[in-house]
Amino acid sequence: MTEKPKKQSFNFLLFLAVVLAVILVVFFVFATSREPGFFLFLSAGLTLILGYLFPLYLRLKKKQGEVDLQIQNLEEKWNLLEAEIAQEKSAIAAFREKIIRYDQLKGLTERLTLCLSLEDASGTLSREVNRLFGEKERAVLLYFFQPKTGELGISSSYKGGARVNIKLKKGDIFDQWVVRVMQSLLIEDTRNDYRFDVEKVAGERPIRSLMSVPLLAGKKAVGILRVDSPRERDFTTEDLRFLTTIADIGAVAVENAQLYERVEQLAIRDGLTGLYLRRYLLDRLAVEANRQLRRKGQLSFLMFDLDKFKQYNDKFGHVAGDIVLRSVGMILADFFKQPGNLVCRYGGEEFSVLLPDCSKSQAAELAEEIRRKIADQTIVLRREKTRVSVSVGIASFPKDAINPKELIHKADMALYQAKENGRNRVCLA
Ligand code: GH3
Ligand code: MG
Ligand code: MG
Repeated sequence: MTEKPKKQSFNFLLFLAVVLAVILVVFFVFATSREPGFFLFLSAGLTLILGYLFPLYLRLKKKQGEVDLQIQNLEEKWNLLEAEIAQEKSAIAAFREKIIRYDQLKGLTERLTLCLSLEDASGTLSREVNRLFGEKERAVLLYFFQPKTGELGISSSYKGGARVNIKLKKGDIFDQWVVRVMQSLLIEDTRNDYRFDVEKVAGERPIRSLMSVPLLAGKKAVGILRVDSPRERDFTTEDLRFLTTIADIGAVAVENAQLYERVEQLAIRDGLTGLYLRRYLLDRLAVEANRQLRRKGQLSFLMFDLDKFKQYNDKFGHVAGDIVLRSVGMILADFFKQPGNLVCRYGGEEFSVLLPDCSKSQAAELAEEIRRKIADQTIVLRREKTRVSVSVGIASFPKDAINPKELIHKADMALYQAKENGRNRVCLA
């Protein structure tokens, strides 16, 4: 506050008046002692002067009172304005904070919408939350419900801004509470929160305050987002609100990524056998052929075709035929399950297998083994034991072909040869 305006001193004026009066009285006594006729003249003059000065003094006094009152009013207004300014300042600071947070949310939403895989979405979400909340000793944890068991499982964890390994993979009592109630949780001080028995929390790291929110996509919970701290009262309700908004956006992104992955799987997998489709095989074959060219390696390509399958269908019906196709697909997928291999339903009753880093002779051995296995397998249909056999054609890259198209053609030709030679056999290009 600035200084008050200086108040005029009436005491000083009074003092001046008294001094003047004393001087006048002295002059009066002196003058009348010299000239007695002067007395009347001077006293009349003095009376006149005093008669004029006294009302003036009274008016001055009144004016002084009014000025004092105005000063008081102004001081009051001043104080009110100062309080208002302080209030406005804190409102502006809060507003600025909100703008920053909206800006952060905008960036986060943009980055999350670009995520097309669950791994990418969860990585981005936890990284962003860590960037926004993971200061000092705080821990940022992201859990997802496991699709198979429905249990909570940790997806990623940060502490003090860096990635860490958290022991409690399925969450602690706080996370379990959020799972049960499906509501946000804010704990200012774990020692004073009657809802939780903090003794039960494993002492891996001290937790004094925390906020935890469910990741809800519609009514479906996909996981939990949590930030905790070893300091009490480290989070405000505003922080919780912000984290809840992030969790809402995150949950939608996670659900979208899951849907996208599922659609992608549907687009590259065959509905009957669950094997990859030809389009996917062609893509992979092109990539794998290039890789082998670069590293001067080789790959083998096997083409399988069920023998006399039309007859089988005619005899047992299409539904039975489908069961057989699925069964052969499963046998092939299991037999060639080594990582890197690719089993696909090439079309109709044809299957193909891509074996990277596999020579033609190795491929021939494997093909012979699986041919026998399929031929030996009995399939019971309408209480009747049935069998199917396959013919196989094999070609290798780059030995037999200079590109994938030619490789497939060569394998097809070898398959044709196997059919020509009496079926249920393996032929090499
Ligand atoms: P080959 O030994 O010469 O290969 O004889 P084939 O009867 O297997 O050959 P063809 O190409 O003439 O017939 C293939 C048959 O495969 C025709 C069709 O009935 C059957 N087929 C193709 N796709 C499916 C399918 O998805 N389900 C069922 N049940 N049958 C299928
Ligand atoms: Mg065929
Ligand atoms: Mg056939």
